[in-house]
Amino acid sequence: MPTTTSTETPQKLPILCGGQWVQSTAQRWGDVFNPSRGQKIAQVPMCDAEEVDRVVRAAAAALDAWADVPVVERARVMFKFRQICLDRANDLAKCLTREHGKTPAEAWASVQRGIEVLEFACGIPSLIMGSTLPNIVTNVDTETTRHPVGVCVGITPFNFPVMVPLWMFPIAIVCGNTFVLKPSERVPLSAQLLGELLIEAGLPAGVFNIVHGDKPCVDALLAHPQVAAISFVGSTAVARHVYETGAKHGKRVQSAGGAKNHLIVAPDADLDQATAAIQASAFGCAGERCMAGSVAVPVGGIAQALVDRLVKSAQKMRTGPTDAGDAVDMGPLITRQHQQRVAGYLDIAHREGATVALDGREVEAARSDGFFVGPSIVDRVAKPMRLVTDEIFGPVLSVLRVNDVGEAIAVARDCPYGNGASVFTNSGWIAREFKMRFNAGMIGINIGVPAPMAWFPFTGWNKSFFGDLHIQGTEAIHFYTRQKTVTTRWFASATDSHQDPVWRQKKQ
Ligand code: NAD
Repeated sequence: MPTTTSTETPQKLPILCGGQWVQSTAQRWGDVFNPSRGQKIAQVPMCDAEEVDRVVRAAAAALDAWADVPVVERARVMFKFRQICLDRANDLAKCLTREHGKTPAEAWASVQRGIEVLEFACGIPSLIMGSTLPNIVTNVDTETTRHPVGVCVGITPFNFPVMVPLWMFPIAIVCGNTFVLKPSERVPLSAQLLGELLIEAGLPAGVFNIVHGDKPCVDALLAHPQVAAISFVGSTAVARHVYETGAKHGKRVQSAGGAKNHLIVAPDADLDQATAAIQASAFGCAGERCMAGSVAVPVGGIAQALVDRLVKSAQKMRTGPTDAGDAVDMGPLITRQHQQRVAGYLDIAHREGATVALDGREVEAARSDGFFVGPSIVDRVAKPMRLVTDEIFGPVLSVLRVNDVGEAIAVARDCPYGNGASVFTNSGWIAREFKMRFNAGMIGINIGVPAPMAWFPFTGWNKSFFGDLHIQGTEAIHFYTRQKTVTTRWFASATDSHQDPVWRQKKQ
């Protein structure tokens, strides 16, 4: 397998099929960029249905043997993989910085979040246990046990190239399934490195496979008869397509989509604390997070004071290349096209009559070859402006001023997405009102990014999630297993039971 971290010469990435790194036969290839430099660093194959078939068959061929391995031994492979990921965390973080543009601190944090899923997966032997009711009727016992579902597929977005795949395959694999990962074609290098590390951990051939590509590759996976379950994370339009198409082909599907997350600031909030949390939420990872707060909603007379603080603080952020060892707070966006799209929202804001309080197109890095937009703040947005309705997925924070708490609740409830929402307040009553009334699945109280850690499910609602069982936590174990219920009647023969005093008593 060619190295994934050391060279700047564009390399043609192989796929991982049945334990072998194989050169793809794809007719189409895509370019992978270092977004800090706008420089091409790799070429990724756009696999067709035939190649997808070969990879899924390899995963299917490995299934029975892997499902037969005792769950404690399957977990031991994950223990080893976790240790290797810890030892190689620096390489994983560097790879993230190079292909995605995360700052070193962001890259490390996302590797750590992914390793926490491995820690959860190592505990699966305790969590996968079934249940038994002995003597449900006289001499009859019933037990329910959990079993793998089969070949599972993970289709992942560009924004967390290590963490999001780790949300999926460790849990699926320890549950006894085999796995095919289709990483984002914009960030395939981190997935390649994860594949190398899994092989080093001793995972048997065919248990984890990688296929690359775009829509035709995804559609071939969704329709493949040997695929049992699909985990998807990406934009809402594609999440809906994956859910509907996968379900039509009889698959289990969990499909997480996009978001527009509101951050309410109540009149009694500590403004300094709220400012710091909103800035980190809106501009961390350059706003390319499904849990990023993208609409701040100050309530009542505090609005101007909050906007002044946010602008002053965001102006101090350093935007620039993340791969040079310079101290930067914010890196680039993923592609030139995405940079232009995000910057375009500042024109839209002008046209729609909002106030651009901080224009990220003016940062110096925006004039370099990298794909930069600096922190941007757009004040006085209102419905139906696109700054309120669209997922921008970049460092653009909208400010929607409201008069009272009731109006703030109505604004947040009106959002068609339902990933996250937060309130900043010192009032227990206001906190509880929002906790109860927010129409979203992950709520923060004085927290800017209320993303649950690995032990809890990632509970998006509405247009942010399609399916029944969420990613992460025990819901993921339920998603990657199916139940079997066995009912047994026991007959006591005379030789078995004549010694037993209870039985003798029963017979009298
Ligand atoms: P995307 O939807 O463009 O791509 C996601 C995956 O789907 C990729 O692997 C891609 O190859 C594939 N894909 C793209 N277009 C397709 C099509 N037409 N048919 C079939 N497959 C297709 O998403 P992205 O731009 O990579 O990621 C950003 C999005 O992901 C944002 O909307 C963000 O909110 C969302 N996201 C959601 C969560 C969550 O937990 N809800 C987490 C991270 C990211």
